[in-house]
Amino acid sequence: MVRIDRQEHGETRADKVAHLARRYGRIRQEIARLKAMEQALAEAPDGQISLTDPDARAMATSARHSGMVGYNVQTAVDTETHLIVVHDVTNQGFDRDQLSPMATAAKEALRRDDLHAIADKGYFSGSQILACDQAGITTTVPRPETSGNRGKGMYVKADFAYVPARDVYVCPAGEELTYRYTREEDGLRIGRYWTNECQRCPLRHRCTTGKERRITRWEHEHLVDAMRGRLGGEADPMTLRRCTVEHPFGTLKAWMGHTHFLTRRLKNVRTEMALNVLAYNIKRVVALIGIRGLMRAIAA
Ligand code: SF4
Repeated sequence: MVRIDRQEHGETRADKVAHLARRYGRIRQEIARLKAMEQALAEAPDGQISLTDPDARAMATSARHSGMVGYNVQTAVDTETHLIVVHDVTNQGFDRDQLSPMATAAKEALRRDDLHAIADKGYFSGSQILACDQAGITTTVPRPETSGNRGKGMYVKADFAYVPARDVYVCPAGEELTYRYTREEDGLRIGRYWTNECQRCPLRHRCTTGKERRITRWEHEHLVDAMRGRLGGEADPMTLRRCTVEHPFGTLKAWMGHTHFLTRRLKNVRTEMALNVLAYNIKRVVALIGIRGLMRAIAA
């Protein structure tokens, strides 16, 4: 009896050793796999690897920490007909480099001498706005407020009025912030303005924690000022943008099941999107001018 117990005990230990050896092997394999992935991640140009679709990338969405990985669909939609004039699919996670390429492509497709491009704040970029202006395209894009000062009850740049004739900013206390110097930042020439009155100002607690409040002005800031004027007008361009772009996006998302592309890899996703856009535009034209009108237009 004692001998049998010992034998069973011995077999159990042998099993345990074999089991631990297998686990050890699996753990070593997993460590090697993770190390290889770490290496690949370090070598990836944008520091990302997508295991499901190698071309898909993390998207910057308004939903924080949404972890959305996919593609970035760009469309330029005509405000009158709601037809998609141009579109593109990229795997860039943000929109701020897309304003000028999309607006220029739309202008060429429409064969127009001028164009007014309205985009949301994700497209705000000084260099893109300037490129559009140089291509004869008027842009309206709200400037994002990144400082968070308004939420804290502090004055933001919009509370300072620029006076072009004197090249000064007038602050909420009525003081004039004069031009001091210009330097290049991220490829843009930025001027700085301030007054020496801040130390004695009763509004200082709402304005600055530093010695004085400094206001920056890009050398082409008049383009941004003009955009702000358009945004503050009676006809809100952002409402027009929403009403225009939501129509095709809503329709396409409903067709595509709201979430996923059916294909993988950028080349295939581009084809899938192009087919969807073509189908949308055909249906839209039929709705606008009917089948006969469409056939006549194709034949012309
Ligand atoms: S702190 Fe300076 S810039 Fe701000 S309101 Fe007062 S004087 Fe004007």
